[in-house]
Amino acid sequence: MIVPDTHQDSQIDKLSQKIKEASDLFLGYPVSKDFNYSKLYEFLKYPINNLGDPFEDSTYRVQTHEIERQVVEFFAKMFRANPKDYWGYVTNGGSESNLYGLYVARELYPKAMVYFSESTHYSVKKNIHLLNIPSIIIRSQENGEMDYEDLENTLQFNRHKPAIILTNFGTTMKEAKDDVSKVKGILKKLAIQDHYIHCDAALSGPYGAFIEPRIPFDLKDGADSISISGHKFIGSPIPSGIIITRRSLRDRIAKGISYIGSLDTTITGSRNGHSPMFLWSAIKSMGEEGLKARYLHSVEVAQYCKNELIKLGIDAWTNKGAITVIFPQVSETLKEKWQLATEDVTHIICMPNVTKKQIDEFIKDIVQEKEANR
Ligand SMILES: *Cc1c(COP(=O)(O)O)cnc(C)c1O
Repeated sequence: MIVPDTHQDSQIDKLSQKIKEASDLFLGYPVSKDFNYSKLYEFLKYPINNLGDPFEDSTYRVQTHEIERQVVEFFAKMFRANPKDYWGYVTNGGSESNLYGLYVARELYPKAMVYFSESTHYSVKKNIHLLNIPSIIIRSQENGEMDYEDLENTLQFNRHKPAIILTNFGTTMKEAKDDVSKVKGILKKLAIQDHYIHCDAALSGPYGAFIEPRIPFDLKDGADSISISGHKFIGSPIPSGIIITRRSLRDRIAKGISYIGSLDTTITGSRNGHSPMFLWSAIKSMGEEGLKARYLHSVEVAQYCKNELIKLGIDAWTNKGAITVIFPQVSETLKEKWQLATEDVTHIICMPNVTKKQIDEFIKDIVQEKEANR
């Protein structure tokens, strides 16, 4: 028999301490920590559920659809959607947003082939498997960007089939960005009219509009849907994501459900109604200007980090406009301490909460280790 646990408080204290310590030291994951949503704590008292389509009335009224629509509108504008033809919703994360984009694509073109680069996030491969769409992996260039020549040659072979292209706007390791207008150009050249482009902009979507010179990625540039994560650049205590697409595309897959008195257009039924509030609060307090300042700060710290590493003789680099600094693998001890994700290389992602002071501490660790190994 499970009895009530009277030691809960001490366990919570311990957990709280552990989370705090882990959160103070990390440079390797793309998660912002500099948020304060205390104004919204009040809402944890309610069973908020955004069940159904945010743009349709529902019979369940403990929901934040109005707020959710404002979040969708903000990003639809940033991604230069047609103001009369956009749609979207707040998801559980970038992975669900990617699933949605690919789902719409497959419903439109059931006989299509998906093309994505080898630098693509694991969620995409899983989603393609779930949706049972045939796919081909395209080579990446050294900087992580799609190899357009390989894309063109591969498309050429399969030009009789509709094409779904998954482009990346900020790959997981190197924050590489595929140029949607180049992809569009290749499709045009090969006269593949039945095509769909989904842009995975999990990390870089929220600041894509501020990158100079601009890297084409959004709806106006030719993408049909764009996904972003809410807990990455913007920051949220609960993982979340956003999918933006065209309303006319969504309409093709909408089904009415009388039980909820709404349209079943989302992947999950019950949906988190708190996450839209965090995102809403963030964009309301920052506005576009604040979001831009946040990005410029990150770029500055990334450039600083890169230069400090280069001063130590370490071969560090960044993709254009990126906030991720890439360099050769460091020791296990440093990887552990700073929670650095590693593949063939290591990276530091200069999220808005990362400061030059933290970079200095990391650099100090490298110097100390170098001296110890001498
Ligand atoms: C993080 C990430 C995802 C997945 O997003 P989640 O919010 O973790 O589900 C997808 N693609 C890229 C490029 C990512 O960096």
